Amino acid sequence: MSPTKTLKTKRKNRKRSVGRTLLSVSSNSSNSDWIERQVRGIQILQIRTLTKFPWLVHGFSTKPGGVSNQDGEKVLNLGFTGWDTKENVLENRRRFQSALGASDLQLVSLKQVHSDIIHLFDGVLAEACRGDASVTSRPGILLSVQTADCVPMLLVDPQKRAIAAIHAGWRGTLQRIVVKAIGQMQMHFKSKPGDLFATIGPSIGGCCYEVGAEVATQFLSQFAEAPQWFDEFRTGDEPNPIQWLNMMPPGHQPPPRNVLLDLRKANRAQLLGLGLHDPNIFVSGLCTACQRDLLFSYRKEGALSGRLLSVIGIRPS
Ligand SMILES: [Zn+2]
Repeated sequence: MSPTKTLKTKRKNRKRSVGRTLLSVSSNSSNSDWIERQVRGIQILQIRTLTKFPWLVHGFSTKPGGVSNQDGEKVLNLGFTGWDTKENVLENRRRFQSALGASDLQLVSLKQVHSDIIHLFDGVLAEACRGDASVTSRPGILLSVQTADCVPMLLVDPQKRAIAAIHAGWRGTLQRIVVKAIGQMQMHFKSKPGDLFATIGPSIGGCCYEVGAEVATQFLSQFAEAPQWFDEFRTGDEPNPIQWLNMMPPGHQPPPRNVLLDLRKANRAQLLGLGLHDPNIFVSGLCTACQRDLLFSYRKEGALSGRLLSVIGIRPS
C-alpha cells in the first residue's frame, strides 16, 4: 500500500473526539467552502456549493460514531477490514447513508487496487468490480471510494448531471487517474472540464506523507511542476531544503532520502491543467495522520485502521 509505512500506534494518551469539530481543527484557509453536518452522532463533511443542487447527494465520512469498536471507542468504520465484523460495517454504512438522506440510493463500492481502472456504472450491479474510479449519470446509484490516507475525490458536472468518485494514492496520482476519469466523463456524457466542480477530501497531508526517493523520481520524470509537491524533513540545518529536487535532472542520481509528498497539490494541479476553474476546486485541509481522533489513518494505525467513505450520487426522481 505504501513504500515506507510508519506504524506508530500510540494507544495511550490518545485524544478522544468528544466535542471536537472537524472544521475547528482544519488549517485550510478555504474552510468556508465546507460544512459539517452532525446527524445522530455521525459527523459528515460536505461542500456548501454542492449542497445547493437538490438532485445531488454527496458527503465525506469521519471516524466518530458508528457501532464498530476500535480500541474501546465507537467508530464509523465503513470498510470491510480484518478486525471488524461484516455486520458492523453494514450497519455503519446504513447509518451513514441514512444521515446523508441517501438510503434510497444503491451504494456501489469498488475493490480498490491502486490502478487507473475506471468503471462506467449505467445499470444495477451484481458484485464489486476491481478499480479505483467510477462515473455515472444514472440516478439512484451512490458511487463511493474507501480511504484511510489516500486521496478521495468527487466530481460533479451540473450541466450534464454526471458525477465521478476517484481513489488516488501515489500510484493513482502518478497514473493521472483523475484526468482519466474526467476523460471518461467527456466521452460518455460530453462533460466540459470548465463546467466541473471537484472536491478533494480529507487525506494524508504533505505534513505527514513520507515517500521513498524512488517515488519522487517517478513524479519528477513525469510532471514539470512536481518539485512543488515535495518537501524535505526539516531538521533546521539544511541551507535549501528542496535544492536537490529543483537542481537534479529527472532520471539522474536518485534523491538522497525519503521526502514528503503532497498528493492534494499534485491532484489539484492535474485538475487545473485540464481546465477546471480554481474556485470550483475544493480541497480539505484535514490530514488523516494528524487528526487520528477524527479520521482514519492507515499509516498511523496499520491493519487496525478503519476506512472512511466518500460518496456521491444522483437522487432518484
Ligand atoms: Zn499531517
